[in-house]
Amino acid sequence: MNDAEIQRQKEIKEAEELLFTGPEALGFAKGLFQGRFVADWAMPYPRIQAAQQKELEQSLAEVRQMLDAELDPSEVDREADIPRKLIDGLARTGVLGMTAPKEFGGRGFTQMAYCKVLEEIGSRCASTSVFTNAHHSIGIRALLLFGTREQKEKWLPPLVSGQQLAAFALTEREAGSDAANVQTTATPSADGSHYVLNGEKRYITNAAIAQVLTVMARTPVPGSDKTAITAFLVTPDMPGFEMLEARMPKLGIRGTATGRFAMKDMVVPKENVLGKLGKGLRVALTVLDFGRTTFGACCTGAAKNCLRLAVEHANTRRQFKKTLGEFDLVKKKIGRMAADIYAMEAMTTVTASLIDRGLEDYMLETAMLKVFTTERLWEAVNDTFQIHGGGAYFNDSPLERMLRDARINQIGEGSNEVLTSFVALVGMRGPGMEFKEILDTMLKPWRQDRMKALGAGMNRLGAAVKVPGVPVKTDRLRARASELGRLVWKFNLAVNRALITYREPILDMQLVQERIANSAMEMFASGCVISRLDSELQGIGQNGGSTPGSQQAAELFLRQSFARIRRFLGDLNGNDDRLLLATADAVLAKRG
Ligand SMILES: Cc1cc2nc3c(=O)[nH]c(=O)nc-3n(C[C@H](O)[C@H](O)[C@H](O)COP(=O)(O)OP(=O)(O)OC[C@H]3O[C@@H](n4cnc5c(N)ncnc54)[C@H](O)[C@@H]3O)c2cc1C
Repeated sequence: MNDAEIQRQKEIKEAEELLFTGPEALGFAKGLFQGRFVADWAMPYPRIQAAQQKELEQSLAEVRQMLDAELDPSEVDREADIPRKLIDGLARTGVLGMTAPKEFGGRGFTQMAYCKVLEEIGSRCASTSVFTNAHHSIGIRALLLFGTREQKEKWLPPLVSGQQLAAFALTEREAGSDAANVQTTATPSADGSHYVLNGEKRYITNAAIAQVLTVMARTPVPGSDKTAITAFLVTPDMPGFEMLEARMPKLGIRGTATGRFAMKDMVVPKENVLGKLGKGLRVALTVLDFGRTTFGACCTGAAKNCLRLAVEHANTRRQFKKTLGEFDLVKKKIGRMAADIYAMEAMTTVTASLIDRGLEDYMLETAMLKVFTTERLWEAVNDTFQIHGGGAYFNDSPLERMLRDARINQIGEGSNEVLTSFVALVGMRGPGMEFKEILDTMLKPWRQDRMKALGAGMNRLGAAVKVPGVPVKTDRLRARASELGRLVWKFNLAVNRALITYREPILDMQLVQERIANSAMEMFASGCVISRLDSELQGIGQNGGSTPGSQQAAELFLRQSFARIRRFLGDLNGNDDRLLLATADAVLAKRG
């Protein structure tokens, strides 16, 4: 076996261990890859319970009032700091511990309700929403999910009240996208009472202002020469903790303190191990599921703000004796933005509800939400910037800041390329395993196995011939719903064909993976939009029905999304991949 093959085997083994140790539930995304529409995951459109809705509205009013008084996003950006009075305001209004249980001082909010609060913050200031996310969505998350009762009682109350701040430290020089490649070591002491941590973390939000950090480090696997990642609770007052750079100067979200720190022979008591020894990567990925969901909410809020700014300007700025909003090329941007925002909000709500319902394994859905909403926000900011023209380019325009701020979203918490490939590969695993089983058993001489293979083959065929139903209540939506069902069916055929055509090499064919993942993302988005519109048309939406323009926005989204799916699937059969890759290879070799 050569080095590349050894590395591949290692990665597959790690991914298997990480992703597939639990029961394999057929969720929405995995269902799509099997040609099914798992309606129960998206329909009926989730609603916040009446009692919590009241509490949420009260909280939102308080948060809005506090933000009006304490938050000046330009100042946050200019001063590259989130002022203490704003942090205190977030703490006072419960934002810094909103989903923590009441017994630890939190508000006990559901993820859906919390997303509404983050949408509000995200619509105003990306620095503030990223700060909040780093503390609450990921900073204290491992403790909330994996902490023992004693750990929660000891650590949570000051963090939930905002007296202390939290950070989540996974990234290192050698562990960026390749998160499993953490090099920081945690060596157990001879008496087992503590671990000695050595290593360096970089790009960590809140590192320099946090009193508690969840740090990922490598621990030995007992009885072998291997190591595995474990999560530790670390405090910056531990001897050996050294802040190398408290605030790395950066392009956007300047109010956040992004830091770099080292740990040199730092002693951490064994009581600070979070979750099971050697299961830190699972801890990290579960934590990121929450982070990616609130990412969706923040991006939705920011995109809504873009639309507001675009409409304001398009209705007031006149050129050629017309307002900008009278030109079709401006309308095109505004219409598309409204359509995308409708979908972003629907997807965020549905994804958050999966967490609230305690469903198993929604990693694909959170990954799709993150990629979809961050890409759409980037387009929304760019389009709004364009509508504002030259004025957007100057430092006194909020758009200049918003453009800088939005750029991190496609990179942070898993770059969109890595997540796109992940969605395709994990999604294809179900049908892929079945094909492998069919192929393997067909080659065996035993009758029983051949029968099994035949059964599996019939299964696949069965999934392939049936168009799944997309159950809607309103007549107006039936045609669109059955169109989506047919697309799911076509998608399943395309996935099967790709698996048969390319076999194992598909694991490296990212251009094929991208089309498959993008189709799945559009189908997820469309499913959420149909679900939301169906409930609004019945007058049972969260706000009692649809708002002006929202029905057209939903209709437009569905038409555009379906067209994109057809294009992605069509491109699987005819494309420039070979030439594109050859060109890139030639250029890379020349420069190399
Ligand atoms: C402002 C900011 C705040 C952050 N906050 C935190 C934090 O609080 N905690 C934390 O742990 N980390 C944090 N990060 C780190 C962030 O998660 C990483 O930057 C991110 O995971 C990417 O890692 P990297 O920067 O090393 O890029 P690399 O891994 O070097 O990747 C660079 C690019 O290469 C491409 N790429 C990489 N791998 C693949 C692949 N397999 N297939 C195709 N393309 C690929 C992608 O386009 C990617 O963007 C933060 C980063 C920033 C900039």
